Amino acid sequence: MTEKNSRSHEPSKSGTTGGQKLEYILKKALRQEPLNKSEMEFILTRRDNEVRKQIFRAARRLRKRHFGRKIFAYGFVYFSTHCRNSCSFCFYRSSNQQSPRYRKDKSEVLKIARSLAEAGVHLIDLTMGEDPRYYEKNGFEELIELVSELKSETGLPIMISPGRVPDKELSKLFKAGADWYACYQETHSRELFKNLRTGQDYDRRLQVKKQAAETGFLIEEGMLLGTGETCADRARSILMMQKLEVDQGRAMSLVPQKGTPLAENSEPERNEELMTIAAIRLANPDIQIPASLDVEGIKGLIPRLKAGASVVTSLIPPASGLKGVSSAELDIEGGGRGLKAVRQKLAESGLDLELAELEDYKKWMKSRKDSARCGREAG
Ligand code: SF4
Repeated sequence: MTEKNSRSHEPSKSGTTGGQKLEYILKKALRQEPLNKSEMEFILTRRDNEVRKQIFRAARRLRKRHFGRKIFAYGFVYFSTHCRNSCSFCFYRSSNQQSPRYRKDKSEVLKIARSLAEAGVHLIDLTMGEDPRYYEKNGFEELIELVSELKSETGLPIMISPGRVPDKELSKLFKAGADWYACYQETHSRELFKNLRTGQDYDRRLQVKKQAAETGFLIEEGMLLGTGETCADRARSILMMQKLEVDQGRAMSLVPQKGTPLAENSEPERNEELMTIAAIRLANPDIQIPASLDVEGIKGLIPRLKAGASVVTSLIPPASGLKGVSSAELDIEGGGRGLKAVRQKLAESGLDLELAELEDYKKWMKSRKDSARCGREAG
């Protein structure tokens, strides 16, 4: 049903209580009708715990409709922490002398990816900064070869987050076997973007996601919370995810990093991230939404799943020498970022959720790719 058609359900403005308005918006979301910006803002600004629980329940109903009891899991391989950029929130910004710098070679990456595959992850998330080795030394061939070998070694879907790569390289990466392209705007307020992604071009960053979708990638967009954005900005980001028809939409809280301009920011209240996850689900019922272990570690998993997230991300094997992006060390060496810990948390949670089989994930990906292809051919 279209937004226009849905107006017949709208309560009259006079005499509408907050409770009636919430009920109206949640019913609309459960009918999978698009929510407008003011409805999104209404959801995001609820502070009452009982009301929040009601919103989380609706988000879970939508997740269940599309994914049943299945939860997915992504292994995270942050293989180069070198970057030419200076994002103000990032521990690995080029000027930060305090961040650990490393670049894993191909054999190390393959070894880590194999161990993740054996553990049972559904996807390898191959992440890097905009490493000058690739960007300034025409080294994309190396990355393309890595993707190709990773694919044939593990047989797993691959997500790449290489930053704003040139179009022709994007196409080669796709042909080499990359399935997903993740590129986070972090905000869809142009003013805030200037402060966060210092010196980068808002439109070009957005454009590369559209180009990736045209190429055939599944795409992920992301927003960062606690950087000075308003609820209206958050609502705008969620609606932008809808407009871009993303396949995965991420909301993550800022973890202030030493040596960065945002080092003294306070972390947003955790419920803010949970409410944003739920709002993303209400607006985009059938996409993947991460429950990232990179903010609070394993203890943050269940609250995020309760808010409607569908995929556990930032799984990092111990003794791999890999770092997280927001929480460089948290829970890694103790195994808290592993599938065993995830399974245990799921079993204890009482949420009636289980880790999916790889075939479930591949089937979902195929249906997303097929419907995107039909859309492109029709359009
Ligand atoms: S967020 Fe990414 S692009 Fe920005 S400085 Fe960090 S690694 Fe580089």
